[in-house]
Amino acid sequence: MIYLDYAATSPLEKEVLDTFNAINNRFFANTSSSHKLGFEVALLESKARKQIASLFSCKENEVIFTSGATESNNMAIKGIALKYANRGKHIITSLGEHSSVLNCFKQLETEFGFRVTYLPLQDNGEINYNDLEKSMTDETILVSLMSVNNEVGSIHNIKLISDIVKKYNKAFLHVDATQSIGKIDIDFSNVDLISLSAHKINGFKGSGLLIKKSRADLFPLFNGGGQEFAYRPGTNNFPYEVCLAKVLRIAFENQKSRYDYVKKLNDLLRKELSSIPGIKFNSPDNASPYILNFYVNKKASVVSEALSNKDIYVSTQSACSSKKTKYSHVLQAMGRSIVESENSIRVSLSYLSKEEDIINFVNELKNILKNIK
Ligand code: PMP
Repeated sequence: MIYLDYAATSPLEKEVLDTFNAINNRFFANTSSSHKLGFEVALLESKARKQIASLFSCKENEVIFTSGATESNNMAIKGIALKYANRGKHIITSLGEHSSVLNCFKQLETEFGFRVTYLPLQDNGEINYNDLEKSMTDETILVSLMSVNNEVGSIHNIKLISDIVKKYNKAFLHVDATQSIGKIDIDFSNVDLISLSAHKINGFKGSGLLIKKSRADLFPLFNGGGQEFAYRPGTNNFPYEVCLAKVLRIAFENQKSRYDYVKKLNDLLRKELSSIPGIKFNSPDNASPYILNFYVNKKASVVSEALSNKDIYVSTQSACSSKKTKYSHVLQAMGRSIVESENSIRVSLSYLSKEEDIINFVNELKNILKNIK
């Protein structure tokens, strides 16, 4: 098998599974229980929260455990919009965001009367930062932009974005950091809310975080027993929390060496693909090395199926939208034609990828492209 779809999800780190098994048997008590076993678990939970807070240079009560980036994005975007609607009803995002962000904005627009600015993307996958500056008003209460695009790997300049947003003291900045955490260095120092999912960095599916700086408050989407500072009540999934702290630590500690390794693989992939006639890269040269998106000049769905029959796994767009639409909204937002948006492939890499995976993938791709009319 050659798996080249790590931006969709990644296998569980063995060390993390060992941790899960070790704590799941002994520390199964409810973190809210008022007995010794409950206190023990609550203490360990607080330790995990502290470890995560130190990785993000934030306070313990700014770390909210969630089921993943979809939930974190919903909590952050709707939570800020509904909490601060009385300050202004203008919110900003981009056309290239993940569906869990875009659909929140659509709902706020159509059902709650917010005015939404959807910034277009340049052909390199980034917004035009001047467009953002021009769109900001005294009524703007939220800007939500991703750090790394999940389909093409383009990297937003979050420092520049936060400098613009911070000129407006009513506005909060949310960053969907799902594809950058543990992979790319991003300056989050002036970001109010950060979303991420554990399974993109070899943690558990159904586990994630919302980092929410204390200057931002949220309208709580859920009501219940007050867990997670009453923003995300419900019995805590303590083993997942400890595992998330662990997998984040591993990813942060190894970020530089993993990046350098994956960059070499990406350079090799670009070089090998360049020898195939008709292939054009959609990912800009300065994209995250973890993601390479390219146009194949043949039906991408047919190419991907043929690869899959050879036990080689890539993606035709993000897994979250591929069952709904035929073409990528991100490539469309970058100004690509419908044909280009339909016929592009995303390869996504990991520190687990191997040089021979790249060579074998490109050889198979060459054969497949030759045989498709
Ligand atoms: N945002 C981005 C940028 C993503 O890539 C993903 C996963 N494809 C999500 C949000 C949603 O993550 P999850 O499915 O784990 O909730």
